[in-house]
Amino acid sequence: AFAALLDQAGISLERAALVAQARAGEALAERERLQATLLSSLSHDLRTPLSSILGAVTSLRGYGDRMPAGDRADLLAAVEEETRKLARFVANLLDMTRVEAGMLDLRRGWMDVEEVAAAAAARARRAFPARTLDLSIPDDLPLVRGDAGLFEQVVFNLLDNADKYSAPGTPTRLALRADGPSVAVTVEDRGCGIPPADLDRVFGKFTRLGEGDGRPAGTGLGLAIAKGVVEALGGTIRAESPAAEGRGTRFVVRLPVSETEPGHPRLLAGAE
Ligand code: ADP
Repeated sequence: AFAALLDQAGISLERAALVAQARAGEALAERERLQATLLSSLSHDLRTPLSSILGAVTSLRGYGDRMPAGDRADLLAAVEEETRKLARFVANLLDMTRVEAGMLDLRRGWMDVEEVAAAAAARARRAFPARTLDLSIPDDLPLVRGDAGLFEQVVFNLLDNADKYSAPGTPTRLALRADGPSVAVTVEDRGCGIPPADLDRVFGKFTRLGEGDGRPAGTGLGLAIAKGVVEALGGTIRAESPAAEGRGTRFVVRLPVSETEPGHPRLLAGAE
């Protein structure tokens, strides 16, 4: 009977191994499909600005000196804008790679979330001077472990989206608060909103909603980077939206409050 049991166990083990192998195969095929989609989307993103630049430079070299000065200036402005777009895209890709490759480094330093949020807000004010940015940043938030540079990029990406996906004249709000064992960072806009079915999907790599229906084109990486960084910091990010035009979107990031570290300036100051 023991031998029979062993036999049976052997068979079910074998079967389990086969099932696992099949599953791994499916997962691999799915990953390959995804990679192919990502690659084709990536080459599109790189090729479109590159061909604008090439076109403009070719015209300028061919008959730039016979062109009205205004046309020349327009072409140069297009070259500048497209080059900026490429630079932003490459910077995003690098961030994404850092997130995917180097997660372990992310929690090394101490981060003053107030300072990081204020720096992102200052950057957003410079980048979108026409947008009203309401801030609510208390100055007694607990410390969080994390890479300040990457987290500033996360907050900036959220503010950038708030500007991109909202009508001119509507305000964006950036609010920080201590919330139990976490610090919550909220970015809220009154823009076009996100349909309920897409609230999770928007965090996927290269996901863009409703391209061509009047939404500005982006890289589709901002939120994937945000999610990667926030999760590497042990936190969560989610989107809420009533998905009605002008009702807007709210992104909530929660970062876990650090265990106390003796000797940190903030803690020493608090102990005085
Ligand atoms: P993108 O570079 O396209 O903005 P993101 O990863 O930052 O890439 O965002 C993914 C998609 O989620 C966007 O293309 C957009 O459709 C949607 N989205 C992001 N933020 C907002 C927002 N604040 N309001 C409405 N839609 C948004």
